[in-house]
Amino acid sequence: MKSLLKYFITLCLFFVLALPVLAAKPDSPGRGGDKEPPIPNSVCLDPGHGGSDSGAVNGDLLEKDVNLGVANKLSALLTNAGYTVFQTRTDDRTLSNADRYNYCNSQQVAILVSIHHNGSTDPNLDYSSALYMKKTDVDLAQTVADSVSSPLGLSNHGISRFASGVLLKADMPATISEGFFLTNDLEADLINNSNRLDQEAQALLTAIQSYFATH
Ligand SMILES: [Zn+2]
Repeated sequence: MKSLLKYFITLCLFFVLALPVLAAKPDSPGRGGDKEPPIPNSVCLDPGHGGSDSGAVNGDLLEKDVNLGVANKLSALLTNAGYTVFQTRTDDRTLSNADRYNYCNSQQVAILVSIHHNGSTDPNLDYSSALYMKKTDVDLAQTVADSVSSPLGLSNHGISRFASGVLLKADMPATISEGFFLTNDLEADLINNSNRLDQEAQALLTAIQSYFATH
């Protein structure tokens, strides 16, 4: 009888804890139903990591700083090109995934582009890729992967599905760009001694322009 009670409690706990997760619909177009249509040509930029979370590290180079550097450059390029830009952080601060998607969801933005850089224990590894979660993310992720690799002189590793909280909870098409591997020493050298981050920001501008030209 005691074990039956235990079984019952476990079952109840399963329904309480697991069901809300299972019931989440990643492909639903948005919550609330009566949301205003997005501002045309509007982008929410999300520089990954920040504050106490450095992301990938290569010597003195921290991914959180590189992500912010690219986002700030891209924001200026987009604004010059007539886009409306929102940004989850413009300085070095700690943000949760919920801070990020709630901020972007509270603006009437058309797309969300999260900027990250990859890391590996293999210092020779380097390629461009983009991540998606929802069906509505695929075109944006593919356009980013296809547009970024060639200007950076890297191979295109294409897109992968990744259960990121930011992608999952974003109401709009969203992607994570992984422009290059920060742990690659050639990249570290390019960042320190060339306009590598300007190149990447320019490539991401091209990606966003091509996406909006067809969506
Ligand atoms: Zn990252």
